[in-house]
Amino acid sequence: MPVLVMKFGGTSVADLARIRNAAEKVKREVEQGYDVIVVVSAMSGKTNELVGWVEQTSPLFDAREYDAVVSSGENVTAGLMALTLQEMDVPARSWQGWQVPLKTTSAHSAARIEAIPRDNIDQKFAEGMKVAVVAGFQGISSEGRITTLGRGGSDTTAVAFAAAFDAVRCDIYTDVDGVYTTDPRIEDKARKLDRIAFEEMLELASLGAKVLQTRSVELAMRYKVKLRVLSSFEDTDENSGTLVCDEEDIVEQNVVSGVAYSRDEAKMTLISVADRPGIAAAIFGPLAKAGVNVDMIVQNISEEGRTDMTFSCPVNQVARAREAMNKTKDAGEVNFRELVADTDVAKVSVVGIGMRSHAGVASTMFDALAAEGINIRVITTSEIKISVLIDRKYMELAVQALHDAFKLENAG
Ligand code: ADP
Ligand code: ASP
Ligand code: MG
Repeated sequence: MPVLVMKFGGTSVADLARIRNAAEKVKREVEQGYDVIVVVSAMSGKTNELVGWVEQTSPLFDAREYDAVVSSGENVTAGLMALTLQEMDVPARSWQGWQVPLKTTSAHSAARIEAIPRDNIDQKFAEGMKVAVVAGFQGISSEGRITTLGRGGSDTTAVAFAAAFDAVRCDIYTDVDGVYTTDPRIEDKARKLDRIAFEEMLELASLGAKVLQTRSVELAMRYKVKLRVLSSFEDTDENSGTLVCDEEDIVEQNVVSGVAYSRDEAKMTLISVADRPGIAAAIFGPLAKAGVNVDMIVQNISEEGRTDMTFSCPVNQVARAREAMNKTKDAGEVNFRELVADTDVAKVSVVGIGMRSHAGVASTMFDALAAEGINIRVITTSEIKISVLIDRKYMELAVQALHDAFKLENAG
């Protein structure tokens, strides 16, 4: 039997009625002749609640126990989904990550999938089971500890199962009916795209569009998984939603396909650092070792052999970055006068494969922001994206201004 993977996110399994609604979609695919692997998230809000409990109990928590706690939301929905399907006379059973076993690295709270042995689930399919319900987001390390794949990780579970089982498609059911030109929650004029290229989706995801976890797009691209995003609240058919596909499969390509934002950024500036060879390595080496995800970097004009070094990182890593920098200062490795953290910034980015062959995207972007009086603090570019760091209070305005400037209301 051909295998289909269907993933339901938190809002799609938020209560028993929604689980039933999702199960009905699964049943319809079983009736079409598929063996189905269903990947479920925790009920919406559950993972946040669990994270909160961990942080209240132990501010400097043991990451292994964090994973033991926060992975548990998915166990509940996996069991309930299997029960709901059984009640509909669909032969189904649930698997927690360790039971598959979905093997991962030991990087707790950000583990990567290493292997998904098929035997266990294949055998049950051969015996007549129609649906394997898998708890998303979780796995097991070689030390035998429960791991999680990072927030939004059920998307990655789904794509990894689709790759491992040569699925005909991986359908990601969520609370929007596809991938939009920008988050439809902050721009009414956002348009749903019928198709988006892997490279663009990868950039949008890594720049903050949380509709798919970045790692899931990477895996889909690498293993050529047919990946689709669609609504769990609407009637859907094979043409619904947005297909994430190869660039060659898109007929009409816009210069800019989408606008992404990331709210929780911080800008850190090391003031008056010695401007000498090796200084960047002396700063960014220790930051990397401390687990700080440095994103943008700017070295400002140097005067009398001294310079200011600015970088951005997620706002919840500011304390860690500060600690790492103070240590290097105390060790005499980097001498700076002061470390200034601005935690009220956000990143807004435009993404499009068409930028490779079109000039003028940067100037259109900067003009649009200037027209709204928005000051740009840091800029970075790559072949298919331009990102700016701005004051957080202008974030929504910037997204809307850029959506207008690139005429994205005509996309889709
Ligand atoms: P799930 O719980 O199903 O995994 P998420 O909340 O993780 O759902 O992702 C879906 C959300 O992603 C949408 O509700 C939407 O607000 C947000 N989003 C951000 N950018 C986009 C975009 N470009 N297209 C569609 N949704 C987006
Ligand atoms: N429940 C997890 C989270 O909220 C994983 C997921 O939903 O994808 O991050
Ligand atoms: Mg998600």
